[in-house]
Amino acid sequence: MPLLAPSPVETPRFRAFGPRQIDAIAKRFPLTPEQVETVRLISQVLPFRVNEYTLSELVDWDRVPDDPMFRMVFPQRGMLSPGDEKLLAEANASGDRRATAAAVREIRGRLNPHPSGQLELNVPSVAGAAVPGLQHKYRETVLYFPSQGQTCHSYCTYCFRWAQFVGDADLRFAAPGPEQLIGYLGAHPEVHDVLVTGGDPMIMATSRLREHLEPLLAVDTVRTVRIGTKSVAYWPHRFLTDKDADDVLRLFERVVASGRTLAVMAHFTHPRELSTEPARRALARIRATGAVVYCQAPLIGRVNDDALAWSSLWKAELAAGAVPYYMFVERDTGPYDYFKVPLAKAAEVFRSAYRTLPGLARTVRGPVMSATPGKVVVDGVEETTGGRYFQLRMLQAREPALVGRPFRARYSTTAAWLDELEPAPETPADIAAAVWGRAPRAATAEGELS
Ligand code: SF4
Repeated sequence: MPLLAPSPVETPRFRAFGPRQIDAIAKRFPLTPEQVETVRLISQVLPFRVNEYTLSELVDWDRVPDDPMFRMVFPQRGMLSPGDEKLLAEANASGDRRATAAAVREIRGRLNPHPSGQLELNVPSVAGAAVPGLQHKYRETVLYFPSQGQTCHSYCTYCFRWAQFVGDADLRFAAPGPEQLIGYLGAHPEVHDVLVTGGDPMIMATSRLREHLEPLLAVDTVRTVRIGTKSVAYWPHRFLTDKDADDVLRLFERVVASGRTLAVMAHFTHPRELSTEPARRALARIRATGAVVYCQAPLIGRVNDDALAWSSLWKAELAAGAVPYYMFVERDTGPYDYFKVPLAKAAEVFRSAYRTLPGLARTVRGPVMSATPGKVVVDGVEETTGGRYFQLRMLQAREPALVGRPFRARYSTTAAWLDELEPAPETPADIAAAVWGRAPRAATAEGELS
């Protein structure tokens, strides 16, 4: 299939900015001294990185500080607890660098760097030794974290993989090369699907990405290669004018020509990310390779927690020929308290947006919690004579027998995650054990939980 023509006009160069360049950013964009200080303070704990495209094309500076894209990439007051902010500020004021480093370590440890049992439950082993940079949670799918892909074109303040970016080797998943992955796949023919993820694999030069992808094509049992990426949103020029943009598209064509499904799992959080001409052209070029683009993002308080944002986003995805796939619930990690959305509101936002969609965009599932036992979707809220319940379903499960099973939990206006819910009394024992680690409490004659 021929590649679509790139833009003949400009060749933007990728340039990223971090905390050290915050003064330079403030000279070009309207940041207040207080916002600059906030970035300096919070970015000692949580990663901060933006690039020229994000700054110039995505952030609406007339709407700062309330602009959703600004909140998505610039650290804000409130992302750390008042106690942790104070601890960090005092450590800084002491002038003792070791005290600051200790405070940063202590605060990061409190931010649940690897949610949903990723470190304890998902890292596979060969002959008793853990395989670095792999996760194997669901029978048919392995996640692969190439070490050179463990950064992104910009960082999302809500990132559930923030621990990948803070320079602490103990907090990081990373595989130096594909050798152990290939060995593991040879021993696990049940794995049909490899998700190459990060960070963002598209941060790698094409020559490097090829070193990770091509060996997969020699493994017959691998039928789908997925690439998790936010590059179309944060740096669409990766597929347009970067010097190896055409090469990466040829690599995609090669994966497709091998008979594999190439699924580009594109992360779009806000409709503005799809409103730019480069983003739409990048998607068109990716699709011209034969890759299928699936779109997913979490529901984030203060960023995209309204139905109009999601309705516009899903319609824009469909118009670009991509498949709306998942609305996730934000995970309990990093600045979770700042961004979390109660499940009751999440279900309402999803339903309100979903009912505006044409049928072809109703491929989207949500709101979905990617939790320790598996992916749990909130299908709706049920009114009964015994009270209100969330209708839940296991979309995916560590234990295959649980996949597709519906169950219920007591409705709550405040619960934002599965473990804050109370299982309905009739919840099957295996689901209650997998999800809550215990049997449901019995109902009394009045329908109340004992
Ligand atoms: S693009 Fe993905 S991995 Fe990178 S910072 Fe954003 S959420 Fe995290």
